[in-house]
Amino acid sequence: MFEQIKLDYGFDALEPYIDTETMSTHYGKHHATYTSNLNSLAEKAGKQDESIEDILSEVVELKDIELRTGLRNNAGGFYNHNLYFKQITPGGSKTPSGVLQTRINDTFGSFDNMKEKLTALALGQFGSGWAWLSKTPDGTLFTSKTDNQDNPISLHTGHTPIMCIDVWEHAYYLKYKNLRAEHIKALWNVINWDVVGALYEGSSL
Ligand code: MN
Repeated sequence: MFEQIKLDYGFDALEPYIDTETMSTHYGKHHATYTSNLNSLAEKAGKQDESIEDILSEVVELKDIELRTGLRNNAGGFYNHNLYFKQITPGGSKTPSGVLQTRINDTFGSFDNMKEKLTALALGQFGSGWAWLSKTPDGTLFTSKTDNQDNPISLHTGHTPIMCIDVWEHAYYLKYKNLRAEHIKALWNVINWDVVGALYEGSSL
């Protein structure tokens, strides 16, 4: 049985950057629905005992088109939001440190350059989707964007996501309306870089 990541903070903990109602709806409705759909579809596909990573990478092989699409979307929705809600834990470092900081500087020149690059990808995503900071097998960093609930695992990039930006309207519309750029700007204030750094160094979600 797949379970949503537990929040050890209140829905109001990220105010004013992410408002209470958005947090409550996003976690309590959207993420909860992806999770319950994943559980029933994984069972239907006989995959209820597999890891979420295995489901994501193998879903493309399912012959039943409806089941394949449903599982791809809901397994993605489950995994993506577990990462999303884990990385916005209040507190922790507001900037990367240690190995991750070094990698960011090596890859992008500076933390600010990385933020600019990821912001541009998130803004450039047409319609619903995500922007990603991922770790490649050789430890370098990679930025990308995906449609809908796809992610670097379901797209077989070989990369491990360590940070993400949700650009579905449900992530920001209640407070920011059509101003996706304002939401992304605010989101940078609540990323917990201790969590992202631990994911970079191999801790699991
Ligand atoms: Mn979302």
